[in-house]
Amino acid sequence: MSARMPAIFLGHGSPMNAIEDNAFRRAWAGLASHLPRPRAVLCISAHWETRGVALTAAARPETIHDFHGFPPELFAVRYPAPGDSGLAQTVANLLAPGGARLDARRGLDHGSWSVLLPMYPRADVPVVQLSLDTNEPASFHYELAQRLAPLREQGVLILGSGNIVHNLRLLDYRRADGFDWAVRFDREVKARIEARDHDALIRYDELGDDARQAVPTPEHYLPLLYVLALQNERERASFFNDRVVMGSISMTSVIIGELTGAGN
Ligand code: ZN
Repeated sequence: MSARMPAIFLGHGSPMNAIEDNAFRRAWAGLASHLPRPRAVLCISAHWETRGVALTAAARPETIHDFHGFPPELFAVRYPAPGDSGLAQTVANLLAPGGARLDARRGLDHGSWSVLLPMYPRADVPVVQLSLDTNEPASFHYELAQRLAPLREQGVLILGSGNIVHNLRLLDYRRADGFDWAVRFDREVKARIEARDHDALIRYDELGDDARQAVPTPEHYLPLLYVLALQNERERASFFNDRVVMGSISMTSVIIGELTGAGN
């Protein structure tokens, strides 16, 4: 009987975190050494939005460079982790009825590979991505994610990749810390997670002006709900990388469950 795998939300921030040496990247690398080695990763990334829910099912998913204005080194990055069409089918079965379609062509976007490269640099853990149907309300995502719980008993690491505060329009590249409203919203979300007040986090759009600035569109926030939905009554949540940078990006990351130090 394998131990239950923690579920993790990572604030991914700038794609440059994939290749820059900084505290965020070092924390991702260190994290993997404190997790049981996963059989596979199921990643819910902010950067794959679809109508209807989809799963990557390619045997060799390509590396997608879904950004502009970054240096050639970043476009040269390849993350050749294998896919796992068997896991994709298992997930599709868990999500039936309603279901999810398998997409044999879609690759891995930077929401997944920018964090997986530091975590598993040998790219030897299979990766499947689950898309976000952002036409659906937040409660849909939370309820869908609850159906993924059996995967944690099967050695699958469920990884949400987004940002609790993500407002590119208000971004200030020169600013190391966060705007007041961004820091307040980040703190409020942390407090609600600590209080297990998932209902308030699902109804984040009722959290006032700070929420409207922090979550102007839902795609970077929703991956958090996928991870919270997997928390059982006895599990605690812990935080790391909890800083707001460039004014309007929160890197705050959440671990549900216990780290073990079992090594990667
Ligand atoms: Zn992003």
